[in-house]
Amino acid sequence: MSEIGEFGLIDRIATLAETTLPAVPELLTGIGDDCAVYSPSAKLLQVATTDMLVDQVHFDLLTTPLRHLGSKAISVNVSDICAMNALPRYALISLAVPDSFSVQMVEELYQGMSHAAKEYGLAIAGGDTSSSRSGLFISISMIGEVAEEKLTRRSGAQPGELLCITGSLGGAAAGLKLLMREKEIMLNHIENNESYQRNVMADLQEYREAIQQQLLPLARIDIIRFFHSRHIRPSSMIDISDGLSPDLQHLCRHSNVGAMIEEGRIPIHGSTRRIADELQDDALTWALTGGEEYQLLFTIPKEEYRVIADNKAISVIGETTDRKEGVQLSDIYGMKIDLSSIRGFDHFNQ
Ligand SMILES: [Mg+2]
Repeated sequence: MSEIGEFGLIDRIATLAETTLPAVPELLTGIGDDCAVYSPSAKLLQVATTDMLVDQVHFDLLTTPLRHLGSKAISVNVSDICAMNALPRYALISLAVPDSFSVQMVEELYQGMSHAAKEYGLAIAGGDTSSSRSGLFISISMIGEVAEEKLTRRSGAQPGELLCITGSLGGAAAGLKLLMREKEIMLNHIENNESYQRNVMADLQEYREAIQQQLLPLARIDIIRFFHSRHIRPSSMIDISDGLSPDLQHLCRHSNVGAMIEEGRIPIHGSTRRIADELQDDALTWALTGGEEYQLLFTIPKEEYRVIADNKAISVIGETTDRKEGVQLSDIYGMKIDLSSIRGFDHFNQ
């Protein structure tokens, strides 16, 4: 890194960022001046979010390819933008990079970011780089846009509406457990001076889906485009970054409603169940408390169900209720469990 210096690095980053610009004509100036310049459409609201990823807190470089990490850092912000029923437009990226990183490593990280940005149709408009004495930090701020009549908050749910979730749950937690097991195997090999030649992604083929959900989650921008094309505005929405149970409780608290969800309706992929069996763990607990799913949880009035019924990526998991009913899960035997009694899944300390 010291060979090319900070300005050399910025030049290389700028080259990668420039490839994201054509998709966003409203961005008049990207990297290269003191500020990015964006020309917002007068009719749209802007939404803004920021998210920080910290080495050893949110990721482990032993089990995370840098390109995947870059992509994930973009996706987690896009997911928050999507949770407002908005579409992402541009991002500002700040990196603090340890001296042990080579230029190539920073470029790999950035390649993941610019690739993901292009997929989501947003521009990388600027940022900052610094050296770090304690691991890698990635901080991304993102701006999105939405028409006022489409904006969706956490607070709009009414009792008696349908609770819906996209995709399937538990896969990201399954992937994390597998990667932690893999890391242990790797460290044992290193300790015993044996060579470690497994390529995590290639040798764990059978677990591909779960590991991909952990390392390379995709924000559900497809669902937002579907909503817009069908003129659907959910009454409330949140993205599942902490886990279904805590995020459902957030939504209910903001909307001042209760909820009843049914275990049998929570979508859990067959491969997630197999991994849970193999690791002697519980797929339902992963689905309820495993974070980092980046699926969308939303409510719609019952009479609007027919508008979303044909979308296979959406499952109805229950209904909102009166606030005093609390937030409950009805298990497959019909037993009611208070979700606030279930402990959360803390990323590296579960
Ligand atoms: Mg969120």
